[in-house]
Amino acid sequence: MNLALLLQRAAAQTPDAPAVLQGSAVRWRYGEWAQRCARLAGGLRAQGLQPGDRLAVWMHNHPDGLSLMWAAWWAGLVLVPLNAKLHPREAEWILQHSGARLVVTDAENGADLQAPCAHWTLEESAWQQALQAPALPLTAREGDDLAWLFYTSGTTGRPKGAMLGHRQLRSMALGYTADVDGIDPQDACVYAAPLSHGAGLYAVPQVMAGARHVLPASGGFDEAELFALAGSVGRLSLFAAPTMVRRLVEHARANGLDGTGFKTIVYGGAPMYAADIERALAQLGPRFVQIYGQGESPMTITVLGRGPLGDTAHPRRAERLASVGVANVAVQVRVIDGHGQACPVGQAGEVQVRGDTVMQGYWQDPEATARALREGWLSTGDIGAFDADGFLTLLDRSKDVIISGGSNIYPREVEEVLLRDPGVAEVSVIGVPDEEWGEAVAAFVAPRPGACLDPQTLDALCLSQLARFKRPRHYRMLESLPKNAYGKVLKTALRAAWLGRA
Ligand code: AMP
Repeated sequence: MNLALLLQRAAAQTPDAPAVLQGSAVRWRYGEWAQRCARLAGGLRAQGLQPGDRLAVWMHNHPDGLSLMWAAWWAGLVLVPLNAKLHPREAEWILQHSGARLVVTDAENGADLQAPCAHWTLEESAWQQALQAPALPLTAREGDDLAWLFYTSGTTGRPKGAMLGHRQLRSMALGYTADVDGIDPQDACVYAAPLSHGAGLYAVPQVMAGARHVLPASGGFDEAELFALAGSVGRLSLFAAPTMVRRLVEHARANGLDGTGFKTIVYGGAPMYAADIERALAQLGPRFVQIYGQGESPMTITVLGRGPLGDTAHPRRAERLASVGVANVAVQVRVIDGHGQACPVGQAGEVQVRGDTVMQGYWQDPEATARALREGWLSTGDIGAFDADGFLTLLDRSKDVIISGGSNIYPREVEEVLLRDPGVAEVSVIGVPDEEWGEAVAAFVAPRPGACLDPQTLDALCLSQLARFKRPRHYRMLESLPKNAYGKVLKTALRAAWLGRA
C-alpha cells in the first residue's frame, strides 16, 4: 500500500484543513497541497522517473522539501534524503551509490554540486515546469516496495543506505501514534531538526492524522522562535535532540516561560541525562516523551512515555529517567550476550530489534546487511540492559559513534581524512564530553618524525573534505598512540587521558 494514500485520504476528508505552514502563515491546505504533490509527481514522471527510481533531495528545511517527499511516494519513487550539511563530495558519493536519477537542491547546496544525475534547483525553470505538470494518478505500491533510502554514516567511513519500504514506514507511524503521541487534526508538528533525518519521518503520522506541519521561518532551531510559534500556532509538537531540549529549557528559565502552547516534545537520538530531563519537566511540564530508534528502525525501538516520566513517586524513578523506556508496540526488543543468548535481567549485552519497522537491509551492500540482520533481528550496535519491568537502559555504543548536537559522527571517517596529511603518522578520533553539544570530536595525532603539524592546517583539510559539524574541535599531539598487544589503538586509554586532563 502506497504511503501517499494517507495524503489522498486527508485531502479528500478535510480539503480545507491547514496542512503546511511557514512560520504561523498557512502555505497550503490539504486539498491544494495534495494537488501540488500530484502535479509534482507528474513532473517527475515527465522527467523520466519510473516507479522504483531514486529521487534525492538535498536542501535545508523548506516547505517543498515536504512536498517532494509525498510527490516521490505518489509517483512510486524512492526518496533519498541527504543531510543539508554534507560536503558536496559526500553528497555526490551518495548520489552515485544510490543510483539517483534526479537530485533536487536549494540554491545554496546546488552551487558546488557536480551531480552525476539530473539536477533541479528550487525556483529554476525545470522545477517551475514540474509544478505545472498534469496531476499524476497515485501509483500503486506494495508494502515492501522501497520508500526511503536513508544513508547513515558507516564505521568503515562510507555511508550505508538503510532500505525502508512503505510497510515499514506505515508501521512506524502506527507505533508512534499508539505509544508516543496520539495526534489530533488540530495538532501541529514543527520541524526544527533536519527533514532529511528522523524529523522528516514525523510527517508520516502527521499526515495520517490530517494535522498541521510547520516549517519555522528561520529554517532551523531557534528557541525564541519556537516559543513564539507555540503561542501563535499552538498544540505544537516537535522532535528535539537532548542539546535542543537543554537550550529550550535555558531559554524558558531566562525568560520566565513555561510549556504553554507545546503539546509534546519528543526527545532522543542521543543520551539525555536524568538531571536534564528532571529540569525540563519542572520548567516545561509533563510534555515529554523519549524515543530510542535508529535509521535502521526509525522512531521505534523503545519509548519512555508520559506515564513513567510523570510518575514522580515511583521507587526506581531515577533509573527509569536514565532509561530509554520499554519496547515500542510495533517491535520486539532483546539483549543478547556474545553467544547470541538472551541476557538475564540486569545483564548488559547488545540490543537487537525485530518487527515491521525494521529495514530490509543496506542498499547494494550484502555484507553489511548480513552483519546487521540475522533471522529478522537487527543488531543495533548499542549495549544495554533490561530491568525486571522491561525498561531498557543504554550503557554504551559499541560502534564508537560520536553524537554531537544530535548528529552522528563516525570517528573512522574523520581519521581517514586526517591521515591524508603526509605529516600524520597515526590518528585516533574519539568523542569527549561537551557541555553544549553533548559530545565534541577530539583528534589525537602522532606526527611523522620531523613533520611539523599544526591544528589550523588539519582543520583546513577537514573543511575541504567533510561536513563542518564532523571536524575535530580539539587536537592533541602525541609522540605515538597507546595500543594493545595486537596493535589496536586503545580508545579507552585516550578517553581516560582526556578526562584526566580536563
Ligand atoms: P541514527 O541512526 O542517526 O538515528 O542514530 C541512532 C543511534 O543514536 C542509536 O543506535 C543510539 O546509539 C543513539 N540513540 C538514539 N536514541 C537514543 C536515546 N533515546 N538515548 C540514547 N541514545 C540514543
